Amino acid sequence: MTNFHTHTTFCDGKDSAEEMVRAAIARGFTALGFSSHSDMVSDLAAYRAEIARLREAYADRIKIFCGLELELAKMTDDRRPTSGIGDGTFDYLIGSHHFITAPDGGFFAFDHAPVILSDGIRDHFDGDAAAFVKAYYAALRSTLALDFQIVGHPDLVRKFNVKHPYFDETADWYRGELEATADAIAKSGKIVEVNTGAISRGWIDDAYPSAEFRALLRARGVRFVLSSDAHAAEALDCAFDRFGSAERYVGIYDIMR
Ligand SMILES: [Zn+2]
Ligand SMILES: [Zn+2]
Repeated sequence: MTNFHTHTTFCDGKDSAEEMVRAAIARGFTALGFSSHSDMVSDLAAYRAEIARLREAYADRIKIFCGLELELAKMTDDRRPTSGIGDGTFDYLIGSHHFITAPDGGFFAFDHAPVILSDGIRDHFDGDAAAFVKAYYAALRSTLALDFQIVGHPDLVRKFNVKHPYFDETADWYRGELEATADAIAKSGKIVEVNTGAISRGWIDDAYPSAEFRALLRARGVRFVLSSDAHAAEALDCAFDRFGSAERYVGIYDIMR
């Protein structure tokens, strides 16, 4: 049992890193990786130091790794974090988009709340939900050349689409986006996570990516890693019984930079 996508009080998680380590040991994990949001940690050095301390303190019980969840939408302009990234001090990097830049320059966090998403589409995409979804996948494809190892929740645009439906996931244009993105991910050689975070947060009863998207990725030889995107200790292994054998997963030594 392993999980390399976890958040703590260093960013928007509920529990401390040490509480996460203890919970992981209690649940029989052999390895645990931390992946704080790159744009939320105020002191990256303190974060690295605390994870290094825990790695030593619990070395006889669990392997601990220090990663980061890069906010890819902020890596290409002046919103980029300025230190500690890309200099080899992290064991691995997850690359994710939680924000979108619209053609008119509008910039919003599409996964933070349904109203932020619906207002953003109304105000910055002329109410055209498909245009927003296409812009999301285009942004993901355009950032695959950046230095990171794991593609985080690649179809995060589905998050609110069950409780607040806004686009048709069976439409031909959507299938086209998934195919183009699967092609680009395969070409990049990056690993894709099967992320159960939407289940623990009650948004959709499914992992990212969807079964359809996973099949497209699998057919192109893309490798997967299982993660829960836990923002609290109780979510460390959320739905791992259900998705633990959904794919053949790689381990940390396939991931480390
Ligand atoms: Zn994320
Ligand atoms: Zn996350």
